[in-house]
Amino acid sequence: MAPQRARPSHDEAADVQIIRSRQSQVGSLPVRRTLPQRGLRTVGPWCFVDHMGPATIDDAGRGLGVAPHPHIGLQTVTWLLDGEVLHRDSLGTEQVIAPGQLNLMTAGHGVSHSEEGTGRYRGPIQGAQLWIAQPDETRHAQPAFEHFAELPAIDVGHATATVLTGELDGTASPARRDSDHSGFDLALRPGDTTLPLRPDYEHALVVLTGAVQVHGTTAVPGELVYLAPGFDELHLTVDSPTRALLLGGIPLDDPVLIWWNFVARTRDEISAAHRDWTEGHERFGHVDSSRPRTDVDPPIWSKQ
Ligand code: MN
Repeated sequence: MAPQRARPSHDEAADVQIIRSRQSQVGSLPVRRTLPQRGLRTVGPWCFVDHMGPATIDDAGRGLGVAPHPHIGLQTVTWLLDGEVLHRDSLGTEQVIAPGQLNLMTAGHGVSHSEEGTGRYRGPIQGAQLWIAQPDETRHAQPAFEHFAELPAIDVGHATATVLTGELDGTASPARRDSDHSGFDLALRPGDTTLPLRPDYEHALVVLTGAVQVHGTTAVPGELVYLAPGFDELHLTVDSPTRALLLGGIPLDDPVLIWWNFVARTRDEISAAHRDWTEGHERFGHVDSSRPRTDVDPPIWSKQ
C-alpha cells in the first residue's frame, strides 16, 4: 500500500502519474482501456475502465452489440455520454439506458448479460463501462440490477459533478455500494475547479472529452491521471468544455484476479466459473437475446 500523507508536499510529482490507455475492441465498438494495466491493476476496488467510442450507429444499426456473456465477483457500471443502449440480463431485466442515467449490475456468484442497440437510435455513441471488484462479503451472493433514471449532481467551481456512486461534499448517490469507493462524472467549464478528495482514497481521473490540467500536467482522452492516497484536494483547469470521470476508493489489501469477464481471488474460482458457463449451468441463467452467447477457451492453467 502507498504511504499515507496528510496533504500534498514536495514529493507530489511522484504521487501523480499519467497512465495511457491501450486500444481494444468490445463487440464492434472501439474502446480505450485504461484499467487494468501492467503498471496499475486497480484504483480502490475499480478494476476495469473502458471508454467506448466515440463511434456512430449507422442506418444499418451497426456499431453496437455485445453478445450474452457471464460475470462473477464484480459490479458493472454503465454510463453514457451519447446514444442509447439496451441492457438485457439473466435476471430478466430489459432496460434502455440514456445519457445521465446509471446501470449498475451486481454479478455476485454469477450473472450474464448482453448490451445491444435499441434498433431505433442512429447517431453518435460514447460512454464508459467500469467494473468494481466486490468484497468477500458480497462476491458469492445473489446477483442484482439497478437502474437510476436520474442521479444527484452538484455545482463545484466551474464544474457540474454527477454522483454515480459514493458521496461528494455531502451529496450521496442512491446506488448500491458494497465497499468504500466513489465515482463522479465531471462536466468542466473553462476555468479553475477545486474538488475535495478523501485522503484515505487513491483516485483516477479518466478524461473522456476535451483536455484538463491537473496538478501541473495536462491529460487528454485516452489518459488516466492516477493520484496516490494523501491528497485532500484536486485542482483542475480547463480551457474548453471537458468531461472526465473521477474514481476513488480505499486501496485493496489483496490483489484481485481478473480473467476474461471474471473477477476472483483464485484460479480455481475462475476455472469453475468458466466450466459452469461453458456447460450452461443455471448459475449464469439465460439472457433473452437473439445473439449467440459468447464462449472462450478455458484458461491456460486449466488445460494442463
Ligand atoms: Mn459485461
